[in-house]
Amino acid sequence: MNKEELLKAYQEKFGEKGQDIFFSPGRINVIGEHTDYNGGHVFPAAISLGIYGVYGPRKDNKITLYSGNVHGPVVEFDLDDETVEKDDRFWANYFKGMLTYLRQRKDGAKINHGFNLYVKANLPSGSGLSSSAAIEMLMGIILKEEFDLDIDRIALAKLGQKTENEFVGLNSGIMDQFACIMGKKDSAIFLDCNTMEYEYKPLKLGDYEIIIMSTNKQHTLASSAYNDRVAECHGALEKLQTKLKIKALGELDDHTFDEYSYLINDETELKRARHAVSENGRTLRATKAMEDNDLAKLGRLINASHISLHYDYEVTGKELDTLAETAWKQPGVLGARMIGGGFGGSAIAIVKKDQADAFKKNVGKVYRDRIGYDASFYDAEIVDGTKKI
Ligand code: ADP
Ligand code: MG
Repeated sequence: MNKEELLKAYQEKFGEKGQDIFFSPGRINVIGEHTDYNGGHVFPAAISLGIYGVYGPRKDNKITLYSGNVHGPVVEFDLDDETVEKDDRFWANYFKGMLTYLRQRKDGAKINHGFNLYVKANLPSGSGLSSSAAIEMLMGIILKEEFDLDIDRIALAKLGQKTENEFVGLNSGIMDQFACIMGKKDSAIFLDCNTMEYEYKPLKLGDYEIIIMSTNKQHTLASSAYNDRVAECHGALEKLQTKLKIKALGELDDHTFDEYSYLINDETELKRARHAVSENGRTLRATKAMEDNDLAKLGRLINASHISLHYDYEVTGKELDTLAETAWKQPGVLGARMIGGGFGGSAIAIVKKDQADAFKKNVGKVYRDRIGYDASFYDAEIVDGTKKI
């Protein structure tokens, strides 16, 4: 997608010239799944698949949005319209939430006129690559820069999370927004979601590359199942807190968890908490393995993450399992696992570069035979977070 095409599309839609172009990346997550809202660690990276936005100011107080991917009508609402759209999948909610929360801040009155926004993505929507956070952070950075708002990137990430939680109804953690807006070229972000301390770590994969595999499965019931997982972990935490002084499951190591797990007298909650704790431990060990150039160990931990998401967290499903399990059997593969919320969406595999073509062909064939439709494969670069281009 080049700038000329984007400006042309804006002009066709709104009948005048667009002013500025922004890009907001999607993300992958090397390891650390469903750990963010449990106060654990994550290890995501922003990717070159993302969402472009062309901005143009208006003299009135109307916001007009058009998505070149949705192919619906232009969505229009007033600057001070804070209503949450009823359909929680309605895409304008992601923009409206950010606008609402930024206008409620101290310098929010600086947002004093409307605008047109044309968006177009090369990032598939609803595929576990975080198109929703990409939109929120796109909106956040556009408003910050166009209206000169005094807000830092991490605060924008938190407003994106609030938008998911309150405008969309998904009780998600901070990982997606943080990865989109804080991304750094060729690095993954090692983030402690309990303290918000973070460190960039170069993604040193040598002769290997990360291949993104999308199941192309619509995850329709994903948000209610996601919220169930959040509630189950909370239930386990409350039981542990009767004996332990902790604020989050992410504070526990495997040994302490084992010792006190007798307190969790609910089988489901026990499994969910066991994943949250073991996944956090794997994430700590995986980042160390990457630093030590022990890619084989990194791969084993990635595989173990998928297994835990399958058995303990129960968020994989046959599409994601088919991708991961088939990937494990291919030559030149160090590891593979589902990423994102689960129940569809995407997986990643770390594959030897010179085996990548055969990998896609083989996994693609098995997937089609078993599932009945195609998976998609993407090679993405690791890029900087949301910015004006
Ligand atoms: P993910 O974040 O994993 O892609 P979500 O279900 O969280 O999946 O977010 C997907 C939603 O984001 C879509 O249902 C749609 O409302 C919105 N969305 C994503 N991409 C676009 C786009 N290009 N244009 C408009 N809305 C989009
Ligand atoms: Mg999302």
